[in-house]
Amino acid sequence: MGDKILIGLEIHAELLTNTKIFCGCKNEFGADVNTNCCPVCLGLPGSLPVLNERVLDFAITAGLSFNCKIARNTKMDRKNYFYPDLTKAYQISQYDIPLCYDGYIEVEAEDGSAKKIGIERIHIEEDTGKSLHDATGDTLLDYNRGGVPLIEIVSRPDMNSPKEAYQFLEKLKEVLLFTNISDVKMEQGSLRCDVNVNVIKEDGRKSNIVELKNLNSFKAALKAMEYEVIRHNELLAKGENTVRETRRWDDSQNKTISMRSKESVQDYRYFPEPDVVDINLTEEYVNDIKNKLPELPDDKRKRFMKEYSLPEYDAKVLTTSKEISNYFEEMISKFSDAKMISNWIMTELLRRVNDEGITLDDVKFDKDAFVYLLKVISEGKINNNAGKKVFREMFETGKKPENIIKEKGLIQIQDEGAIKEIVVGILNDNLQSVEDYKNGKDRALGFLVGQVMKASKGKANPQMVNKLIIDIMKNM
Ligand SMILES: [Zn+2]
Repeated sequence: MGDKILIGLEIHAELLTNTKIFCGCKNEFGADVNTNCCPVCLGLPGSLPVLNERVLDFAITAGLSFNCKIARNTKMDRKNYFYPDLTKAYQISQYDIPLCYDGYIEVEAEDGSAKKIGIERIHIEEDTGKSLHDATGDTLLDYNRGGVPLIEIVSRPDMNSPKEAYQFLEKLKEVLLFTNISDVKMEQGSLRCDVNVNVIKEDGRKSNIVELKNLNSFKAALKAMEYEVIRHNELLAKGENTVRETRRWDDSQNKTISMRSKESVQDYRYFPEPDVVDINLTEEYVNDIKNKLPELPDDKRKRFMKEYSLPEYDAKVLTTSKEISNYFEEMISKFSDAKMISNWIMTELLRRVNDEGITLDDVKFDKDAFVYLLKVISEGKINNNAGKKVFREMFETGKKPENIIKEKGLIQIQDEGAIKEIVVGILNDNLQSVEDYKNGKDRALGFLVGQVMKASKGKANPQMVNKLIIDIMKNM
């Protein structure tokens, strides 16, 4: 056994409910500062929080999607700490009985086998307000985010490489998006991720756990983890150790930087929240949510491979988002060649969409136009290269493919007589190549095909050209 890397993740995801967790204030990003606030979410004396049932639905949906058990009887707790963005000086969270526990997410281990990464718990809590620092150095507070519902997902330290952790994050994100629980926008703070990393050497020596915070993208998380693993190994090799601390990733310097030491564990003095009634769930309530779960990405992937005979790679790409998988399935309801659709979506469509930084909704042509294009290609009316030209123009202008094909004169020449005429002309002009071919130089054939295609402005059916050249040369 070699060195072992241990990585655990803690993820906070804001839930996409209409209103906040304990009051009727709107849950929206980007509103004017301090406009979505009321005495309840500010925690003013005399106000009473009432738990939003939708928060339970969303959190249980997440729990079931991540294979968790659901606690039937649980409660909210107060987590006491003083921080300016927390008006009450406590956060309403869950302490010893999380709503969901003991689940897992499956990832692909380094050796290619399936590996289950444990999820210790998923609990619900309220988000805090937000500190804003202005140009003069003053700190201002916006409480719009205070009381926005969150789930905190805590993994077990089961990930043994930054790559596994990256996959865990990707899968988590996919499920949250497919189930519509969170919009998972890291840049807007609706998904926040903290990472715990340490290394155990073969001889048993361990580095101290380092916590990585302020990771603003999955890529940053991956880089920060890779950086830390190297740093831990280097220190251990020198007989030194890491400090138990919190570090942040600095994108411009490509390294992690110490934020604060973590010598003492903070005592939050948790106790049950007396103002929110206990949560008691019936079997029926949980089953009802289970029955309404949408098809999850992993299941969809397996179904795509089985139902449409697609390779695993294709199935993975097509199920990275609900938009892409829906797009694919709508296409296949109109045209049955799954592999052809998959190829065109993966290469031409997604490449262009990603290059332009747009979504599938923004694409200028509809699926019927796309299907029309694939049909004329598969029927041999235009060749693949011409098809790509048509696609490009459809993408840029939204013009109908039939019009583009007509305007550009791209219809393939299928008429054998017409092609034969061109072939005979080319062969007579290139007698040396005909001779070369007869003497076993296969390259000469490619040259002749090229000449015929050129003469036909790329419109001759290439299979027909090939066959005719060989046939006619036999009699020369
Ligand atoms: Zn409120």
